[in-house]
Amino acid sequence: MQVIVVGAGIGGLVTALSLHEVGIAVQVYESVPEIRALGVGINLLPHAVLELDALGVLSELSANAVAPSKLTYFSKHGKEIWSEARGLSAGYRWPQLSIHRGQLQRILLAAVLDRLGPSCVHTGHHLVSAETLASGTGDAEVRARFRTPTGEETEVRGEVLVAADGIHSTVRAQAHPLEGMPIWNGALLWRGTVDHAALLDGRTMVWAGHPDQKFVAYPILDLPDGRQRINFIAEYRTQDRVLAEREDWNKPGNPADFIPRFADWVFDWCDVPGLLRAAPSTFVFPMVDRDPLEAWTDGRITLLGDAAHPMYPIGSNGASQAILDARTLAGCLRAHGGDVDAGVGLYEQLRRPVTAAIVHANRSLGPELPMKLVEERAPEGFSNIDEVITRAEIDAATEQYRRTAGFAVAALASGISALDAVGLDAAGLDAGVTDAIATVKP
Ligand SMILES: Cc1cc2nc3c(=O)[nH]c(=O)nc-3n(C[C@H](O)[C@H](O)[C@H](O)COP(=O)(O)OP(=O)(O)OC[C@H]3O[C@@H](n4cnc5c(N)ncnc54)[C@H](O)[C@@H]3O)c2cc1C
Repeated sequence: MQVIVVGAGIGGLVTALSLHEVGIAVQVYESVPEIRALGVGINLLPHAVLELDALGVLSELSANAVAPSKLTYFSKHGKEIWSEARGLSAGYRWPQLSIHRGQLQRILLAAVLDRLGPSCVHTGHHLVSAETLASGTGDAEVRARFRTPTGEETEVRGEVLVAADGIHSTVRAQAHPLEGMPIWNGALLWRGTVDHAALLDGRTMVWAGHPDQKFVAYPILDLPDGRQRINFIAEYRTQDRVLAEREDWNKPGNPADFIPRFADWVFDWCDVPGLLRAAPSTFVFPMVDRDPLEAWTDGRITLLGDAAHPMYPIGSNGASQAILDARTLAGCLRAHGGDVDAGVGLYEQLRRPVTAAIVHANRSLGPELPMKLVEERAPEGFSNIDEVITRAEIDAATEQYRRTAGFAVAALASGISALDAVGLDAAGLDAGVTDAIATVKP
C-alpha cells in the first residue's frame, strides 16, 4: 500500500512515522520549499507523549523541552485561584512536555528522514487537488496534483491520501467549498518567547485573568545561564476589529496593541508588562476554529489534525490530538490489513466524535471555566478564594475536560498506544488497564 500524506506539520510527520512502523509505504508532500523552525511554544499532553515514546523520540524531545509539574491559575489581580499537578507529578506514567513547535517538528522530521529515507519528504509541493478514482471498488486509488514553486504541476497516485494540511486545508476546502474562513470568537492572541528569569519554581505553567483577558506563560527550555526561554500568550477579546484577512501563524504583532492593556498586571510572581516588553517579537493570531464536520472521508481521501478538527488553543490539545489521530489511523489500517476502506472508516469512526467533543468543550471554555466564574463573582478581587468558588466546582470542570480530551490519569494507565489499542477488544483493554494500574506512580 502507498499512502500520500499532505503536510509535513506535526500531524503529517507522526502519520508518516506511524504508518512506516506498521509496514505501510508513505510519501510526504509539503507546501513550503524549506521546513523552518516556525511557531512558538506548544504543549504535548501525557497521552500524546506516550505515543511519541512508542515512536522512540521521547528522550530527544525531553532534552529539548521542559516537563511542567504544576499549572497554577491566578485572577487578573495575580491571586492564586487553584493549582493542579501536571505530568509525572499528577500520577501519569508519561510527562507533559512544553516545547518550541519548531524543535518538535525538527525532531520528527529527522526521524522521518532517518527511518523512511531522505527522498520520502517532498518539499515545495503544494497540493492543488485530489480525487479518488474508481471509488467504492477494491482497487480504488487517489490522484493528487501538486504545484511546485516554479509553477510546474506534478501528479502522484497512491491508495490513500491523508490530508494533514492544517487549518486552511486545501482538501477540506475542496470537499466543503462553502465553508469559508475559520470562525473567530473575538479574542486576539499575541504569542512570543522571551529569555527571562524563571517564574515561580521554573516548572509551573501560569494562566492569569479570565476569558476576556488572559496571560499564559510556561517555560519551554532551560538556558545554560540559569534563565529559561518562556513562552507567553497575552490575549484579550475585542469588538472593534473585523477579521478581514486570513490569519497567519507568522503575522508579527505590534506591542502597542496589547502591552498597555496589561500595564497594571504587576504581580509578586511576575511583572507581566515587563516580561512582554522584553520579548524580541510577537505573533498575533485570532482565536479561531471550525464547526465539526459530518464526515472526514471521501473515497480514499481523509482528513487528520487541524485539517479535520481545528480547535481553540485552550487546554493544550492541538498537537496532541493530531498525534492521536495519526497513531489511530496507522492502527486501523494495520488491523484491517488489505481492506483499506474499512481501515479508514474505522479511523474516522474512532476519532471524529472524540475530537468534535473537544472542539465544543473548548468553545465552552474547557478547563478555564472556573476563571470565568471567579471573574464574574469577584471582579474586584478576593481575600479568601474559598468564599468565591469551591474546590468541587473547580474539580468538576477540570476533570470533565480531562475525560473529554482523553487524558484522565486512568485512561492512560494501560500504557497501550492508540496504535495498538485498535486491535484490542474491550476485555483486552480492561486487562491492560488492570495490569498497568499497579505500575502507575502513587
Ligand atoms: C508555521 C506554523 C506555526 C505554528 N505555530 C504554532 C504555535 O506556536 N503554537 C501552537 O500551539 N500551534 C502552532 N501551530 C499549529 C500547530 O502546529 C497545530 O495546531 C497542531 O500541531 C496540529 O498540526 P497539523 O499537522 O494538523 O497542522 P500544522 O502543524 O498546521 O501543519 C500543516 C502543514 O501542512 C502544510 N500545508 C498546508 N497546505 C498545504 C498544501 N496545500 N499542500 C501541501 N502542504 C500544505 C503546512 O505548510 C504545514 O506544514 C503552527 C502551525 C504552523 C503551520
